[in-house]
Amino acid sequence: MSEQEVLDYVLACDELPTLSTVASRLISMAAEEDTTISDIAGLISKDISLSTKILRVVNSSFYSFPQQIGTIHQAASILGTNAVRSLVLSFTFLKPDQMRGSGFDYATFWEQSLFEAVAARMLMTAIGAEDSEEGFVAGLLQNLGILILARAFPEKYPRVEQRINEQQQDRCAAEQDIIGADHTFIGSEVVKRWGFPEALILPLRYHHEPHRCKTTSSALRQLCNLVYLAGLLAEVRDADKPDEALGFFKKQVRLKLNLQEKTLERFLEQVHTEVEDTAKFFDLKISPQKSIAEILQIANAKLSVLNLTYEQMNRALIEKTVQLEMLTKELEKKNTLLERLAHIDGLTEAYNHRYFQNQLDREIKRADRNEDVLSLVMVDIDHFKKFNDNHGHQAGDQVLRQFCDLCRSTIREYDLFARYGGEEFVIVLPQTDAETANEVAEKLRSVIASHSFSIEREHYHLTASFGVADLKPVRDGFGKNELISRADEALYAAKKKGRNNVVVYSQKKKWFGRTP
Ligand code: GH3
Ligand code: MG
Ligand code: MG
Repeated sequence: MSEQEVLDYVLACDELPTLSTVASRLISMAAEEDTTISDIAGLISKDISLSTKILRVVNSSFYSFPQQIGTIHQAASILGTNAVRSLVLSFTFLKPDQMRGSGFDYATFWEQSLFEAVAARMLMTAIGAEDSEEGFVAGLLQNLGILILARAFPEKYPRVEQRINEQQQDRCAAEQDIIGADHTFIGSEVVKRWGFPEALILPLRYHHEPHRCKTTSSALRQLCNLVYLAGLLAEVRDADKPDEALGFFKKQVRLKLNLQEKTLERFLEQVHTEVEDTAKFFDLKISPQKSIAEILQIANAKLSVLNLTYEQMNRALIEKTVQLEMLTKELEKKNTLLERLAHIDGLTEAYNHRYFQNQLDREIKRADRNEDVLSLVMVDIDHFKKFNDNHGHQAGDQVLRQFCDLCRSTIREYDLFARYGGEEFVIVLPQTDAETANEVAEKLRSVIASHSFSIEREHYHLTASFGVADLKPVRDGFGKNELISRADEALYAAKKKGRNNVVVYSQKKKWFGRTP
């Protein structure tokens, strides 16, 4: 049969799906220029069950409107008539009883279509396009042609499926070979006769080859691209090599959409839950949805046992293993976070005392191994008690936080800055002798002294005192505690010198260091 003959046959076929009265009236109405929102709302409101369903979706978390939407008129004014029309069409097709039938796997077909619809709608939202419901219905109906062909040619269509599965032939090519026309042609021609708008005809026609859609409207071209992409993502779900299919999808997204990597990843993480939620609004029972990550993991797990005992390997076992793996990963992530929190001081977010002690031990061991030197700087804010007394403890807390930010941004990344206690801090400088550490401390001292700490439009000035000591394990005969007490002693000397000073420890107690 030629394409045209197939089309004529299909159009005359009893098995052709039909539109509900409301849906077909709505389509012709929307095409008339003088149709108002009230006309459309009035028509839909006559169908109580349809109106209830629409209001349920409109009030769902997907739209998250701040206020409850109580009437179809309100819904139509807020969403626009296109979106409402799309919703009506979605409900017309996504009905639980559409799922039944013999010879063709309707349940899988509509589940796949729902996935494509949700994916298209989410992608539209992600790129900030208007009328995301249009994406939904275009995604939903993109493969309507398959349903029509399967119903009109119940003997031939199973052979198409067979060809796809066994010879990996492209669906459109298999349909053309076996039936004489493919589902993109049939689907788009049928909905054209139903009076569907261009925004729904073109995606049905070009969802496999969006580049061939020669429309002047960039919004329509975009819609074809989105529906194409949604279809590609749906293919990942039962691809033999889902990682390759996902790679191809991502590549096409980069080519066709201006989407940030992060947004794309978030979309991929959320799409399966959004499908489940949407199914609830349409009262559809679908199988539990797997996340894209889970699909990839299952494929990997299958691959790794393929050579061994695949036959005996029970599918449930694989899935359980995968779930366990994912849980373990999650747990590891949480543990790392907890561990990190255990190292951090709650007020200043600087490393805490315990972490400092541990890291200093490690650095000393490292310096010992490498015959290296390291320095310790102790920092104490000057007259901080007075600051608290004058401006209050809360202001003191804020200053402490700003003080830490300032210190961290001034020192090198691999120097460790930690809160020793109260308004006292320490810096561990690996591979640094006292002379260089003195310069670092001096720079920090002057940065602090000239900094204006601001709290609620008030400005404050502070100074701090510094004690510096170094340790070269292979040269000096002392350890961590002595290093700390030397730095502390030097700090004490800096305070005695009048504060806002850096002092380097000297055994002869002839302190040296610069005076500002
Ligand atoms: P000096 O120049 O000799 O170091 O004088 P100082 O007042 O800074 O030293 P002192 O050790 O006498 O007092 C430290 C003060 O630091 C006392 C305490 O109120 C304040 N302080 C310690 N920890 C915190 C904190 O977490 N928040 C606030 N706001 N103040 C703190
Ligand atoms: Mg102090
Ligand atoms: Mg103190």
